Amino acid sequence: MKKVYLDYNATTPVRKEVLEEMLPYFSEKFGNPSSLHRFGQETRKVIEDVRKKIADFLNADPLEIYFTSGGTESNNLAIKGVVFESKFEKPHVITTKIEHHAVLEVCKWLEERNFIELTLLDVDKFGMVNPDDVIKNIKENTVLVSIMHANNEVGTIQPLKEIGEKLQIVNSERIKKGVPEVYFHTDAVQTVGKIDIDVNKLKLHLLSLSAHKFYGPKGIGAIYIRKGTRITSLIQGGHHEREIRAGTENLPGIVGLGKAIEVAKEKMYEEEERVKKLRDKLKSLITENISDVLILGHPEKTLPNTLSVLFKYVEGEAVVLQLDMEGIATSSGSACSSGSGESSHVLRAMNVPQDFIRGAVRFSLGKDNTEDDIIYTFEKLKDVIKKLRDISPLYKKNV
Ligand SMILES: *Cc1c(COP(=O)(O)O)cnc(C)c1O
Repeated sequence: MKKVYLDYNATTPVRKEVLEEMLPYFSEKFGNPSSLHRFGQETRKVIEDVRKKIADFLNADPLEIYFTSGGTESNNLAIKGVVFESKFEKPHVITTKIEHHAVLEVCKWLEERNFIELTLLDVDKFGMVNPDDVIKNIKENTVLVSIMHANNEVGTIQPLKEIGEKLQIVNSERIKKGVPEVYFHTDAVQTVGKIDIDVNKLKLHLLSLSAHKFYGPKGIGAIYIRKGTRITSLIQGGHHEREIRAGTENLPGIVGLGKAIEVAKEKMYEEEERVKKLRDKLKSLITENISDVLILGHPEKTLPNTLSVLFKYVEGEAVVLQLDMEGIATSSGSACSSGSGESSHVLRAMNVPQDFIRGAVRFSLGKDNTEDDIIYTFEKLKDVIKKLRDISPLYKKNV
């Protein structure tokens, strides 16, 4: 059977050249980077070289990059690390209703335990945050604004530059008054390796990234922490990562992350341009040939590889399962496996009509997709939607 993978926002395969680069670091070059002998010195140098690569990619300093186990850990560290180090009795955190669970659940956990006051910002129908809303919600005790760069479900890219610039104005006033700065964090897990990102242009203090979303291995990521940011570690037990993250480094993972970012730097524009064309082709095939559909997310300010479509009168999950039987891997808006789960918090925040909210399907493309894949997917999709609508009582009533 033909196999078509259209779920690159969930995870990506490790590139061949990335895997090859990693292999010697399991059993030949295995020294503990903290050891003084040459086995350790050798791997220490490798780790520092990767740190520099990541820093260059983000326009940061190598001393501002720390390795973690991935996006989830980086988000936990950014949020809890800033909150726990704050001098305010009850710090205030601002984030949005459309964040990944690795931000949202951390914030809710802190709020439930009375560690923080939390503001969840609304978004418009495209899933976009209004920069003025961010500024309006800042209070004396606000310590952190956390806004994702691009949304994993619908692809919308947030106006981080505008928010960063406005925050900088607020912060210069706060510094004059001796009030602690409001730090700006972004979960850039969906953008690093896909589009350009510069921590200085965006005026960020913290940024999370993860290797497995851009053809690197799973279980390795990094966090950018601007020099001077007041933050505490969450994992103690050694001097690793300059006291920010204890534990012997994931050496093969770090090597893989380094190679993945190196290749992304070289190929990302070309690859994303190609992928965008395929995405747009799938989009027009769907909108021109299937009735009662709605494209979700922002029409322009969106990831080049992501297409989220609402098929009215069907369940997204049913579409995903039916497509899977044809060898096509996609994802539905509601990330529940039991069938009794909630609808997507992202789509709810975008005010997608209740009646149709379960009809969303996400197609996220990547480097191995071909035009053939897109045509095959469209053909199968058309049949699946027809089949499901034929047995849907809602559809019959409405047409
Ligand atoms: C995948 C993802 C994460 C989680 O990253 P892991 O490395 O899998 O822990 C966080 N945020 C976003 C936006 C993601 O897409």
